[in-house]
Amino acid sequence: MKLDTIDRMKKAPHRTAQLTARWRWLSFGVRAEDTATQVRKIVQVNAGAWLMIGTILVFNALFWLVGNEALIRSGLWQLPLMLLVPAVWWLNARRHLRTGRWLMILMAMTDCVVAIVGGQGTASSVHVYFLLLAVMTPTFFTVEEWPSTMALVTANLLIFLVFQFGYWPSHPSFALLDAQTREQMIQSMVVSCVLILILMTMLTEIAAADNENRLIRLAETDPLTGLANRRQFRQALEAEGSRMAREGGSFVLGVFDLDHFKRVNDEWGHDAGDQALVHVGHVVQGQLRAYDLVARTGGEEFVLLLPHAGLAEASQVVERIRQALVNDPFTYGGHARAITVSIGLALVTDAATMDQRLRQADEAMYQAKHEGRNRVCCAP
Ligand code: GH3
Ligand code: MG
Ligand code: MG
Repeated sequence: MKLDTIDRMKKAPHRTAQLTARWRWLSFGVRAEDTATQVRKIVQVNAGAWLMIGTILVFNALFWLVGNEALIRSGLWQLPLMLLVPAVWWLNARRHLRTGRWLMILMAMTDCVVAIVGGQGTASSVHVYFLLLAVMTPTFFTVEEWPSTMALVTANLLIFLVFQFGYWPSHPSFALLDAQTREQMIQSMVVSCVLILILMTMLTEIAAADNENRLIRLAETDPLTGLANRRQFRQALEAEGSRMAREGGSFVLGVFDLDHFKRVNDEWGHDAGDQALVHVGHVVQGQLRAYDLVARTGGEEFVLLLPHAGLAEASQVVERIRQALVNDPFTYGGHARAITVSIGLALVTDAATMDQRLRQADEAMYQAKHEGRNRVCCAP
């Protein structure tokens, strides 16, 4: 491979760029070579750290509003932990990912213990947070890190059970709260856990959808020209065939091949040839109607799918393409040359004959080559 081709590939936006651009505040530690799952885990841990800061602040505000000493003490005790949270981002940024995951969960566990010991005791049910942490642990760690997952899930479940069936006294002032406020405190613990779970689930779903879209794009596009590849063309063809079987009408298939393309490679080099293919892709796409599809199916061979068209309309479209390529020469290293194409067309009126018609369009393309290139031929 030519050096400048490699350079261009290096400069191409890396595959996590989209994700990191959308979630800059959640992406500390994400690297270009990370798998989709790795990225999701890092983003989730970073998000967990933000949620911990948010939860501590919201509960402190709530406790001051209620004005009860037991609650205020418990809130104040948690504040110093908030200062430690950025350590998770720092560890992720330094790529100590597993340590970051451990610190995130251990800090959240400590936070719960501090809230209990600091004044709330088990009376406000703040220990339901251990259940939340047990559920969140597997979303933070990778499958390979299963011993960490097992250890932390077990620990959180056990601690929850200990507090649920055991007892830790709250600060005496907690008893001054009326029964209704005490009940509301318990409910706010449960509701906040559910809200955090909903947020984390949404984050997972968004990341999963992003990853799937990226994979589909990768699987369906030609990496050099960015055009559809054979797979996407095949899918569009099947879809158009079944649409036609339902609704009738016709569509047109085209096959085109660059003329004397070998000369471009021989005279200007393979990299110029690659860029010529990109140039042709741009020009062709600029001439298509919104619902037409062009795909690169081979080295310098392309196919066209022109839905809702008869031969007359399709001929107009491809004649426009042929003219545009003549009028817009390819330039490389200060030199210019027109890249022309030979095009074969075939009308499809019966879905059962699609593949046969595609072969006939290919034959028509060879006929255009024989007749002198840079022209359009239609299959009978
Ligand atoms: P014709 O008009 O008969 O089609 O002549 P041609 O020179 O285009 O035909 P031929 O099939 O002999 O040559 C096709 C050339 O396309 C040969 C191959 O090196 C080149 N080619 C195929 N794929 C690529 C590619 O991805 N990049 C570059 N640079 N060249 C390619
Ligand atoms: Mg050719
Ligand atoms: Mg060829």
